[in-house]
Amino acid sequence: MTKESWLAANTLTPEKIAIARRVVDEVNRGRDIGDSLRAHALKPGGVLGKSFLVAAYNEMVADGTLAADTSLFDKLRMKPVRTLSGVTTVTVLTKPYPCPGKCIFCPTDVRMPKSYLPDEPGAMRGLEHNFDPYAQVRSRLTQLENLGHPTDKIELLILGGTWSSYRRDYQEWFVARCFEALNSPNPPVPPYL
Ligand code: SF4
Repeated sequence: MTKESWLAANTLTPEKIAIARRVVDEVNRGRDIGDSLRAHALKPGGVLGKSFLVAAYNEMVADGTLAADTSLFDKLRMKPVRTLSGVTTVTVLTKPYPCPGKCIFCPTDVRMPKSYLPDEPGAMRGLEHNFDPYAQVRSRLTQLENLGHPTDKIELLILGGTWSSYRRDYQEWFVARCFEALNSPNPPVPPYL
């Protein structure tokens, strides 16, 4: 998946919201969510992500089309089991950087930190945000909050290459920016190391 195709798949458009509203309406009337999503498959292929369904639900409740309904909302949310423990995982990736290891099985992609490929959501989010830790964390927190997941207790996973091979000042800056993103929504963005 390229950065452009990932952005296209994850951008909320009026067309996607219109489809999402139809799916929410059908699920509210008792249709199976999988059946409804497949019946309204997207033109390039695939089905709407559940974040779009939650956005449509919120819009429909706000404009009075739908009465707030927690059981319906729970059906629309993405993988609620992910936060059943009360701890929500946020994954961030470090910038592309060489690793002193020479392991032959380890993937290499010049756009990614060593050992990661840009074909999974966390990796693509890192690429989308130029591996800026603050932007990655805020983006993920916003996404999780929009999906109704709790964000008051976070497990932060820092992925990428070999952490100990990065410069010490980069490591300190990266971790500090993650904590700033977790604890204050809008601090100024300092230069990227
Ligand atoms: S990231 Fe790990 S597996 Fe990959 S080359 Fe470095 S040490 Fe080996």
